Amino acid sequence: MVRFLILLSIFSFIQSAFSFDCSLKSHEGIGQKVLTSLEKNTISCKGQKVHLSFDDGPFQNSTPQILNELKMRNVMASFFVTSKNLELKPESGKIVSETLNSGHLISSHGHEHRAHDIRLDSAGRDVEAPLTQSQREEDIKKSVSYLNNVTNNEFNKQSLKLFRFPYGRGAMPSENELRVMEERGMMTFQGHSFIERLKEYRRKSPALHTLSGFGFSHLGWNHDSGDSALPYSLPDEDKIIEYVKTNLFNLCKASTPRVALFHDTKMINTVAVPLIVDIGQCLGLKFVSAQDMVKEPTISSGGVFIQKEDLAKGVVENVLEGLSGAEDSGVVNPACTNPETLQCWSEYTKRWYNDCEGDRSICLGGRWYSRQDEIIKKNCQLNDS
Ligand SMILES: [Zn+2]
Repeated sequence: MVRFLILLSIFSFIQSAFSFDCSLKSHEGIGQKVLTSLEKNTISCKGQKVHLSFDDGPFQNSTPQILNELKMRNVMASFFVTSKNLELKPESGKIVSETLNSGHLISSHGHEHRAHDIRLDSAGRDVEAPLTQSQREEDIKKSVSYLNNVTNNEFNKQSLKLFRFPYGRGAMPSENELRVMEERGMMTFQGHSFIERLKEYRRKSPALHTLSGFGFSHLGWNHDSGDSALPYSLPDEDKIIEYVKTNLFNLCKASTPRVALFHDTKMINTVAVPLIVDIGQCLGLKFVSAQDMVKEPTISSGGVFIQKEDLAKGVVENVLEGLSGAEDSGVVNPACTNPETLQCWSEYTKRWYNDCEGDRSICLGGRWYSRQDEIIKKNCQLNDS
């Protein structure tokens, strides 16, 4: 009998050590599978703040489902609408007004979903021609007009007026794009490091100046869900589980609040986002509204949020954030992806290290720097002086 009781208590200890108690408000079957696989690799999010943002909608097949799931969880998100959708399908205007009435922020993603500044692929080729100044103004004007029309002018009355450039181009250029702008005589830069040049770009960017003229602030992102690479239709279960886990892992690993980029046009988010919220909350994530997120100091200092008053000043004080934004845009030096050689930022573990020690060059944000570089001196506590 005693032996039985000992066995029983050992069994229940093992069970409680490995069971992950988390209530799922929907998609329980697939959610349990995520929980089971997380049990072996528990992560803790320690109160990390996350704001969910959705681009490119509305889309009739998925946006209403996402709204419904967010409502069940009382989570407030922002929706960056591509107003061309409203021109093509006027009936989808109802989704936008419902979104706003549910307490979410309606924001502009422009009308045509065109790049407002130079946009190159990873091989340095032009993907599309950037909008001219008059096209930029026309695009924003059209977007504002459609959003006001479908919301009975409630869009303009929102306390926070946000714009997000398609592909981030206009506020979040890659290092290569800045170089090409200079080569083509579009802009000149005094600074040598990427971050200095990025600051100058944000001071001079005609696209950002145009936004300021319309009273917009710009919200970029510092967490990419990775859904751009996924199909519009619902992928198989294994893909969904992997996507949920990768997002949770990266959100929890980050050391500062995250503005998370999703697309409400992708069906995967009708299942994955509710699971990311439910499981994320169990792990300690705090989902906050746009209004709360923009008050976070690192969101402004890192240039993720550029408020209208500062649009012409180029506020990028936080070098690490700026560089992590650059990494999101795909300019990662392949030489920096070898975990053996990483000093400050590890692609491998997806985390920043506070101490940069060692006698090699330092890899920061996906590119190499010498130990003498100002960025390294400022951000890495080097042991040599
Ligand atoms: Zn977009």
